[in-house]
Amino acid sequence: MYKLIIGSHVSFKSDDQLVGSIKEALSYNSNTFMFYTGAPQNTNRSPINDSKTLEALNIMKENNMDLRHIVVHAPYIINPANANNREFNINFLRQELDRVEQLGVTMMVLHPGSHVGVGIEQGIKNIIDVLNCCVLSDTKVNICLETMAGKGTELGTSFEQIKKIIDGIVYKDKVKVCLDTCHINDAGYDLNDFDKILDEFDKVIGLDKLACIHINDSKNEIGAHKDRHENIGYGTIGFDNLLKVLYHEKLDGIPKILETPYIKDIDNDKVSYPPYKFEIEMIRNKTLNNNLLEDVRKYYKK
Ligand code: FE
Ligand code: FE
Ligand code: ZN
Repeated sequence: MYKLIIGSHVSFKSDDQLVGSIKEALSYNSNTFMFYTGAPQNTNRSPINDSKTLEALNIMKENNMDLRHIVVHAPYIINPANANNREFNINFLRQELDRVEQLGVTMMVLHPGSHVGVGIEQGIKNIIDVLNCCVLSDTKVNICLETMAGKGTELGTSFEQIKKIIDGIVYKDKVKVCLDTCHINDAGYDLNDFDKILDEFDKVIGLDKLACIHINDSKNEIGAHKDRHENIGYGTIGFDNLLKVLYHEKLDGIPKILETPYIKDIDNDKVSYPPYKFEIEMIRNKTLNNNLLEDVRKYYKK
């Protein structure tokens, strides 16, 4: 039987750490989740609390969660394609890999980065250089290069570019791919024919490299190069096309992570609520909830 591994982005706070993340994920009825180990836009990091991690492992066991399905997202201030920040990129990525390893998590999603003017070829060389300085023979965490929308000078916007990066890596078995549905739509892949996309992925990169999937609808048309996520079933990709990805037989057992936008309170737009509990419910029921926004507001509003 098909095993749906579904979760969302959750928080990781310095006091409760992994225990807090798991509790949040369970409140959405998830069986996996993704988190940043600290604010993605800065380098402030609290030390990993091993007793919290131990407590978290017990809660996971009680709830049949598999540590191998849990995903960390690397901070987006790391831009491996930009050689001007080479030292910083390498040091911070190494530090993050160590923190993730200490948590026992085995997968870290990384944006390949933006070449900021040096061109695609040089940008890809820079990415390979940083990865080869961080992914070593004893590295336990796999890096998953994320497919990108093509905003600005972003790289990783085609399977061919991702393949070129992987080709330059010394320890290739430790570098995998995270497919983001919003990003590939915005990059120009037509999710009305997902089988064709998977065939192409298999031909260019190899399906064995696909380790994680970000499930997001998109606010923009195919090829818009925008990267603006929309709630499941409320965007241009649509509910049925996303269901095909979520339940594709070739993607059995691969973690699917929602990164859809929070829903704003109707009276106060400074307050917003996570949509994930209700999105996961409609994914499990395979039925679009036309009252998603209202249901979320009703549930969380105090
Ligand atoms: Fe991402
Ligand atoms: Fe993503
Ligand atoms: Zn995105």
